[in-house]
Amino acid sequence: MKNRFKECINFIGSKSFSGMFRPFLKPFFVLAVLLAGTALGLWQVKPPRADGDSPAYRRMMSSIQRLTEAPHPNGSAEIGRVRADILAEIESMGVTPLVEAEEVTELDAIDYFLRRDAGMTLEEWWAQNKDALAEDGITRPEDNFTISESPEPVVVYNILAKLDAPGTDKGVMFVSHYDSAPGAPGAADDMAAVCAMLEALREQSQNGALRNDLYFLFTDGEEEGMLGAWEFVTAHPEMKDMIELAVNLESRGNSGAVLLFETSPKAYGLVSAAVKSGAKPVGTSWAAAVYAMMPNYTDLTAFLYHGYAGINFAAVEGVETYHMPSDTYENLNRDTAWQYLQTTLALSDYAARSTVSGLNDNPREGVYFPFLPGVLILISAFWSYMLGLLACGAALAYIVFEIRGKRLKITFTHVLMGLLLLLSAGTMALFPSGSYLFYIPLLMMAVTAFLKRRKAAHILVSAAGGIVTLLLWVPVLFLLWVTMIQPMML
Ligand SMILES: [Zn+2]
Repeated sequence: MKNRFKECINFIGSKSFSGMFRPFLKPFFVLAVLLAGTALGLWQVKPPRADGDSPAYRRMMSSIQRLTEAPHPNGSAEIGRVRADILAEIESMGVTPLVEAEEVTELDAIDYFLRRDAGMTLEEWWAQNKDALAEDGITRPEDNFTISESPEPVVVYNILAKLDAPGTDKGVMFVSHYDSAPGAPGAADDMAAVCAMLEALREQSQNGALRNDLYFLFTDGEEEGMLGAWEFVTAHPEMKDMIELAVNLESRGNSGAVLLFETSPKAYGLVSAAVKSGAKPVGTSWAAAVYAMMPNYTDLTAFLYHGYAGINFAAVEGVETYHMPSDTYENLNRDTAWQYLQTTLALSDYAARSTVSGLNDNPREGVYFPFLPGVLILISAFWSYMLGLLACGAALAYIVFEIRGKRLKITFTHVLMGLLLLLSAGTMALFPSGSYLFYIPLLMMAVTAFLKRRKAAHILVSAAGGIVTLLLWVPVLFLLWVTMIQPMML
């Protein structure tokens, strides 16, 4: 028996045993890295698990259920019922809400659309196009546009609740819209955000030590072209100097992580505040840069147009329910709802206790991306360039090292490294928000290449490099899939 055991151990230690498995080792290793990196990469863009026992969460869910029994578009009888409910809820917290009714004419709406799409006011646009339009027989700008079937003015009712901090006029404003698209109950778009804001308002209304004013703005007519938000911002120019940050909460689907998908330009300080708040934001600077180039809009567009500092959050998975009858309370992903709540509570708590004055006085660009679940890495533009230069330098040093060692045979590693080097340099010059996607893998690759004579270190670093690369790239591919490819397949 004892001999048998010894034989067995000897066999495992022998060359013939390891020889049996050697051909499988490398593919197995690569597969393990691929699986681990992909799983971790996808986990980064999943919302955290909802805590069903949290009282705020339970209140929020029952509010969502109550307020999304039927579609409630601007001007409908149902939105009147929803508004009355929201007002009663706010009053029950001992806070007096303000309702601002504004009539939006067709001309106002055209003006907003032009500012959004052409970056100019109706007056400016008219001055530019008057002659061309006169040739077509159009003598007034409104002849060339219609916003709705009926030319009747639209009335939007914005609801504003303010928690006043003593001794300051500076504050943070939270924004969501309580109207829905026609035909959609709007549980995700945008009642989850509305009800998360109600819970944040409830929590902060008990806070006796507010350091900043907190504003909660529930807009109307967002689905008609962010009419409520435009009206509010236009009607309150005095707010511009008082609001240090506008936080908008939106939705383009009913599941997945609540993404930080848009910021005002040079938002290093804002993203840094979001990280410090404990909101655990999920977002990438490349996606924000791409979004900024697209014609999409939300209520935040009106704020950014007027020069406010702002950040914007939305869930983007489950796009098949967007503006659909299926955007119901039942179909709303519970973890997503939980993340709306956690994000709003953490940010409002941060706004209540921290110095927000001058939050964005020193505007700097930042590069940010998720790195492991719940962690957001934020690098200032300067340090991002330094890291990029370090990666490019390391790759160039390796290439020189290879040429000097007369290893002139071109391998796959050389080609890949050369390609990454070009892409790193190119994005650093032209698209810095996305440059980390290339220079970090390049840096890992250069380190791996230098270590190729040290077996164990080489294996460890190449595994780490593979996983890091997947952590960076899986969210990119996932977001492209969810926001670009999937909607096209519907
Ligand atoms: Zn919406």
